[in-house]
Amino acid sequence: MSTATHEVTNQPTPLVGHNVYAGDRALRDALAFHLPGADESGRTSFGALLGSEAMQTHARLANVHKPMLHTHDRFGHRTDAVEFHPSYHALLGAAVDAGLHGTPWSRGAGAHVERAAGFLMFTQLEPSVLCPVSMTYAVTPALRDNAPVFADWFDKLASTRYDPRLAFVGSKTGVTMGMGMTEKQGGSDVRANTTRAEFVENNAWGACYRLTGHKWFFSAPMSDAFLVLAQTVAGLSCFFLPRVLPDGSVNAIAIQRLKDKLGNQANASSEVEFNGALAWRVGEDGRGIAQILEMGTLTRLDCALGTAGLMRAAVSLALNHASQRQAFGKRLAEQPLMKNVLADLALESEAATALAMRLAGAVDRQDDLFETLMRRVLTPVAKFWVCKRGSALAQEAMECLGGNGYVEEHGEGVMARIYREMPLNSIWEGAGNIMALDLMRALRKRGGESGDAVQALDAELATTRGANALLDNFANRLFARLSDGAGEETDARGLARDVALAVQASLLRRHAPDFSFDAFCRSRLAGGGPQVFGTLPSGIAFDSLIQRAMPHGAT
Ligand SMILES: Cc1cc2nc3c(=O)[nH]c(=O)nc-3n(C[C@H](O)[C@H](O)[C@H](O)COP(=O)(O)OP(=O)(O)OC[C@H]3O[C@@H](n4cnc5c(N)ncnc54)[C@H](O)[C@@H]3O)c2cc1C
Repeated sequence: MSTATHEVTNQPTPLVGHNVYAGDRALRDALAFHLPGADESGRTSFGALLGSEAMQTHARLANVHKPMLHTHDRFGHRTDAVEFHPSYHALLGAAVDAGLHGTPWSRGAGAHVERAAGFLMFTQLEPSVLCPVSMTYAVTPALRDNAPVFADWFDKLASTRYDPRLAFVGSKTGVTMGMGMTEKQGGSDVRANTTRAEFVENNAWGACYRLTGHKWFFSAPMSDAFLVLAQTVAGLSCFFLPRVLPDGSVNAIAIQRLKDKLGNQANASSEVEFNGALAWRVGEDGRGIAQILEMGTLTRLDCALGTAGLMRAAVSLALNHASQRQAFGKRLAEQPLMKNVLADLALESEAATALAMRLAGAVDRQDDLFETLMRRVLTPVAKFWVCKRGSALAQEAMECLGGNGYVEEHGEGVMARIYREMPLNSIWEGAGNIMALDLMRALRKRGGESGDAVQALDAELATTRGANALLDNFANRLFARLSDGAGEETDARGLARDVALAVQASLLRRHAPDFSFDAFCRSRLAGGGPQVFGTLPSGIAFDSLIQRAMPHGAT
């Protein structure tokens, strides 16, 4: 007996089996700008893997089957083990295999830009597993300040062989690391940390301490080691805290519970206590904040890259849907007002990619003072602005899918997962206000041996002076404000937004088509700045913007 009551029509086919590299013109153009003439074959094959049904399924399963904490075995012994779905390990293995963690530190020029592109592409799965990958990438240079630890761990941090076993570093093929700063009484203000470090002895890994205290947020607790902050008699200091000690015993890190979060489900974020855990000092006694911030600047880069990747994924899904779904006698992508929305989303996504990749380029060229200064400026700018725009873009891209966009369907609703992930990149690694205030500090420090960030910004924008009167006027107003001391603390967010917009416009001039640059200047630099999406002024090349952003495979 037939139970059919109707035929299912006008439901788009999902976006699957596409190449997330080949179909991303904005990313390809950014890479051609930063690494002209570089071989694209590795990126293209990685892009095919990341668009595959198999990887999409892993991302879904890793998020639907959340990590489970086992604090004790059935006999009552503490185990502090986190159990993951096999898809979690498949995803983490693929990221490590692609060298998205510590590997670039073992490679030559261009490695950080290549890695940034890979990270941005991987995020498009919204796998929620990249937190330990990012932390491992970021920790590697900071670890150099404990030479014996670095000597024993570096090869494993850079290894492309994923090894999730709980074992001492010597017997592992590869390792990952996490970090612990945030405590209950303060996250942004880490000076409030109360975890105590008591000196034990000097041994093969340097000054060894015993840590007592807690961390309120401690992601990826199954990592092999962590950089943590704790108080010595000299003040807040940075420590290397391995999970397995040189004698093979497990360190005294008790996982209290896993956080019950809005999104980021595949990543185990925990609360931990240190009950006399052994740790080795990294860097100078009492200089822990500066030491761990070396790591923080790189995880902030990843917040911008990851958000740019999620934005690209959201725009691809919106375009895939709107180019198939019909309403009122036309495909949605042909409806004039929807064209405005899609073109505006595409423009924002491209600008986010350009800014995040520019920052990655600066990380790659740290032997150049100008690039060091640009990195100092663009780290808080990209982290603040790209992440702020990410949530707004995800909401609008979701709306392009209508009701379907809001549906989770056991993880098949990737758009819903993207939407839940977006705010996280804005909060962790320094929330929006902290980033804006950090930028203000960088721009207020004029002259001196370490260079002048305002002059560097001026030189960056000088490359495109005269290209567009709106950009020239915008930049003039910005520099007038900067020459006057960068303004009041209450204006710090406005300053971060304006630096971001000026740099984004300049980058679009350098590696996007004229129609993108023109649309960006007219919609973001004139009048009141960025508005609700879908308010591009008339005369903009809507069709060209949409075509440029169309993911491969969408019709
Ligand atoms: C899922 C998840 C995983 C995490 N994983 C880790 C981890 O592995 N390791 C780790 O160390 N931390 C981790 N964190 C913590 C995260 O880094 C902090 O939550 C974040 O830095 C903010 O700190 P807080 O929560 O203490 O908020 P607070 O510091 O209390 O800040 C609250 C708000 O006040 C604002 N604010 C603070 N100071 C000022 C000021 N002077 N002026 C204006 N505004 C201000 C902030 O911008 C923020 O909006 C994680 C967080 C989440 C959500």
